[in-house]
Amino acid sequence: MSDNDEKGIQKEEKDLGEHEGRTAVVWRKGKYCFACGSNIHFKAEICPKCGVRQQLPKPVKEPGLAAVLSFLFIGLGQIYNGQLAKGFAFMAGLFISFLLGFGGILLLLPGLWLWSILDAYDSAREINQKQQYC
Ligand SMILES: [Zn+2]
Repeated sequence: MSDNDEKGIQKEEKDLGEHEGRTAVVWRKGKYCFACGSNIHFKAEICPKCGVRQQLPKPVKEPGLAAVLSFLFIGLGQIYNGQLAKGFAFMAGLFISFLLGFGGILLLLPGLWLWSILDAYDSAREINQKQQYC
């Protein structure tokens, strides 16, 4: 693959009838590197020409959403992050706060709530980072 790389898919598809066989099939399945524009294999994750990764993994967890969920209901952000045990632990903390009565709600709950929100945000970011670099 040399000069052919610079040609467009349209051109290649037009030539399809003339150049039957393997090459045409490969071209049809090709895609363009978003960085250097080379026609590369459609399954290529990293461009062989410029070394740029083609499909950046999408963030699997939205840190803002996780935080909002934990704000709406303590522990919900953790469950959204897939950390069920932690989420239920936070919810258990909520019930314990209520069991302790006024003092528990006043002293324990605000800290627990804030912790749940911050943890949901941090955990979501952590999950995304692991997703990107492993
Ligand atoms: Zn490239």
